[in-house]
Amino acid sequence: NRKPKIVILGAGYGGMMTASRLKKANAHQDADITLVNKHNYHYQTTWLHEPAAGTLHHDRTRMKIDSVIDTNKIQFIKDAVVKINKEEKKVVLEKSELDYDYLVIGLGSEPETFGIPGVKEHAFSIRSVNSVRLIREHIEYMFANYNKQEEKQEDLLTFVVAGAGFTGIEFVGELTERIPELCEEYDIDRKKVKIISVEAAPTALPGFDEELVEYAMNHLESKGVQFKINTPIKEVQDGVVLLADGTEIKSQTIVWTTGIRGSSIVDDAGFETMRGRVKVEKDLRAPGHDDVFIIGDCALIINEEINRPYPPTAQIAIQQAYTCAKNLKALVAGKTELEEFKPDIKGTVASLGGKEAIGLVGDKKIYGHSASAVKKLIDNRYLYMLGGMPLVLKKGKLNLF
Ligand code: FAD
Repeated sequence: NRKPKIVILGAGYGGMMTASRLKKANAHQDADITLVNKHNYHYQTTWLHEPAAGTLHHDRTRMKIDSVIDTNKIQFIKDAVVKINKEEKKVVLEKSELDYDYLVIGLGSEPETFGIPGVKEHAFSIRSVNSVRLIREHIEYMFANYNKQEEKQEDLLTFVVAGAGFTGIEFVGELTERIPELCEEYDIDRKKVKIISVEAAPTALPGFDEELVEYAMNHLESKGVQFKINTPIKEVQDGVVLLADGTEIKSQTIVWTTGIRGSSIVDDAGFETMRGRVKVEKDLRAPGHDDVFIIGDCALIINEEINRPYPPTAQIAIQQAYTCAKNLKALVAGKTELEEFKPDIKGTVASLGGKEAIGLVGDKKIYGHSASAVKKLIDNRYLYMLGGMPLVLKKGKLNLF
């Protein structure tokens, strides 16, 4: 009597937490469970603005998968997913192929470029350990180069962040912390450095509470950030950002943070998608595919109160993992009644660099140092859920205030 095979694609918030919950529920006794990920480590995507700016080492945001998942109980394969063949229930990896009875897709997201020319070729993105290490090194290289040039090139010290949503604002906040250190290290006057946040929408942090947005913008402006709001970007070329109003900004560093779309592997698999995201059923399965669960940034769920999709967050990915693991456990035990996913949004906190942040917890607005401490508690809580106190002590943000 063969055990059913569960294959989990991606070890991000969604995939990692699904594997961890399945193990806790002893589902490995009833099923062969395999987790597949590109790297042998898991990283916390929500921390990546820090290593991107260079305010935190990237090793603090990642951990070896086998240090948190018991690989005697859950098989781990380090490989990249190339293709999902849902009709044949097969997944093609770079080095091998897997078949499944139940599939969990947690492959995360890709930057949304809205088809704007030159973004893919000339802009950086905050997506993975590899991508943020490159940004950090590049920024430092710009500083190192500046004093080397006979004729000083201002574009070396101009940093453009496209998109003033959550990721853009958090990254800009970290830059305001890092730039003074680099100025000191490379003997450069802080006044020579420009940090420009460009946003197409009529406000920074669209959709967020107005008072909090004002606090964030005032704080960042006081740290030298220039905002160009209501300013769509038309094109990115090598060393220059062309704005829709006809002006241009010369910059050697453009970081693209205008939002995300789901993994292109989900599109290519032939699921019906909206920007790479599948509108999943209430039990998190793909419509018409009772053997495929889709979670995290690849899944789209509607907030029925406002009839709009929930923004993709780690918070939702983690909660979905709990439901997904419960439903898989039920299926392998031969049950057909599955749990419905109900998001429980506890709040949102955005850091502004250093010990500054803004947020909403329930409907309470929080600012400044207390918001920053809450942000760190949220980061630590996730580590606790994944690996208990030892992981918090090893990787957590213990310096709350
Ligand atoms: P991810 O966590 O991105 O994981 C996807 C995994 O799949 C990765 O490990 C990747 O290596 C792997 N993978 C991808 N492609 C392949 C492939 N082809 N083969 C094998 N493996 C693959 N959300 C919040 O709730 N709160 C926040 O404060 C917050 N802040 C953020 C700050 C930043 C800078 C960013 C970028 C995002 C932030 N988010 C925040 C959003 C949050 O990070 C995402 O919604 C969340 O990571 C989604 O989880 P996921 O499991 O779908 O994908």
